[in-house]
Amino acid sequence: MSIAFRTDIAQERRLITAIPGPKSVALHARRTAAVAAGVASTVPVYTADAGGGVIVDIDGNSLIDLGSGIAVTSVGNSAPRVVDAVREAVEHFTHTCFMVTPYESYVAVAEKLNALTPGRHSKRTALFNSGSEAVENAVKIARLATKRTAVVAFDHAYHGRTNLTMALTAKAMPYKKGFGPFAGEIYRMPMSYPFRDVEGMSGKDAAARAISMIEKQIGAEDVAAVLIEPIQGEGGFIVPADGFLPALSEWCTRNGVVFIADEIQSGFCRTGSWFASDHEGIVPDLITTAKGIAGGLPLAAVTGRAEIMDAVHPGGLGGTYGGNPIACAAALAAIATMEELDLNAAARRIEEAIVPRMRALAADTGRIGDVRGRGGMIALEFTVGGSTEPDAAAAAAVAKACHAQGVIILTCGTYGNVVRLLPPLVIGEELLSEGLTVLEAAVRAL
Ligand SMILES: *Cc1c(COP(=O)(O)O)cnc(C)c1O
Repeated sequence: MSIAFRTDIAQERRLITAIPGPKSVALHARRTAAVAAGVASTVPVYTADAGGGVIVDIDGNSLIDLGSGIAVTSVGNSAPRVVDAVREAVEHFTHTCFMVTPYESYVAVAEKLNALTPGRHSKRTALFNSGSEAVENAVKIARLATKRTAVVAFDHAYHGRTNLTMALTAKAMPYKKGFGPFAGEIYRMPMSYPFRDVEGMSGKDAAARAISMIEKQIGAEDVAAVLIEPIQGEGGFIVPADGFLPALSEWCTRNGVVFIADEIQSGFCRTGSWFASDHEGIVPDLITTAKGIAGGLPLAAVTGRAEIMDAVHPGGLGGTYGGNPIACAAALAAIATMEELDLNAAARRIEEAIVPRMRALAADTGRIGDVRGRGGMIALEFTVGGSTEPDAAAAAAVAKACHAQGVIILTCGTYGNVVRLLPPLVIGEELLSEGLTVLEAAVRAL
């Protein structure tokens, strides 16, 4: 049985200086002179160590991590099994390029993804370095396989920062503003957003609305792919109404359109099942994964129906580093850790620990219009006094107060008014509870 985290990092919140402390402040000055200003940091404390549910900074402060480096370190930042696997792999070889002389770990990751992703059909996988790269490749594959060009994306979507994925991403600031022109043949459709849709709109109604627009504005026969996050990440942890995803998926099947689920944020136990698609029993034609896949090492994948994936000619997919052997070893160890520690059950326990407290907080304070999400992916949408009017200032103030108190939380949402909780799935119960207590105090102090 593997242990959940390094035993040499105390699982506690410990503040011994202001946040950020003097060493972090000094390093930040160096950073400002050396690092491009466009790369920002949410909490400018510089990391010395991290594991389980804490990040220890260079001043010796220990912060509770409710962000997981944006849903990446589900197994923790130094999961013993991942660290051992990386150490072992790196002693053999760092790189050969899978396109030159291949190695087993890449094949084993592909086998594992083919087995774990929804559906029992024959599948193939290709590995890449980043989520954006996986999405780009999923679109390439879908276009080639269908010989069509149009790609449907949704309101509030986030798919990355490369040129094609910026075009697929909905929000201009900070992701797109000034970075155009963008790739063409992308069409944006309305999402199912229960908190903001008209009262009583079902998932089926929302799907019919989107499908009608697709048919009118593009025409089904020109659509290569429908690309969607089954639970949206950066857009605000929007969980579509029940029935929305199945209706879209069925329409795709009927019309020869490739249904691509972007599970880069929602995959790998994050929502209490291997993939968010599992909650509604949908079987995507292609699925993109990254973030939680490899315990923090850069790895991403496209997995999907063999006939679609294999439509691409040899040499049409790849990249110098895609499926790097160290990252593959880490992925196999991270997935083994998820299985062994049953992190799906852990994510469901996290939901049970967070949601009732946040619902009570919402009722008490009147500052939170919606509490939503699944598993270890829970959001609080801040609004003005019981309305749906976004209150971005409240979300920012709460995040700032939590950071000062040594709790790392992230914000998101099209309107910037969502606080999202993404704890490592191995976080201890008491540590999580303490983090929530700090968050509650920050909301009450608004
Ligand atoms: C983070 C994210 C991406 C982009 O992944 P990168 O590794 O940052 O390129 C794409 N889609 C979703 C849903 C994401 O959350």
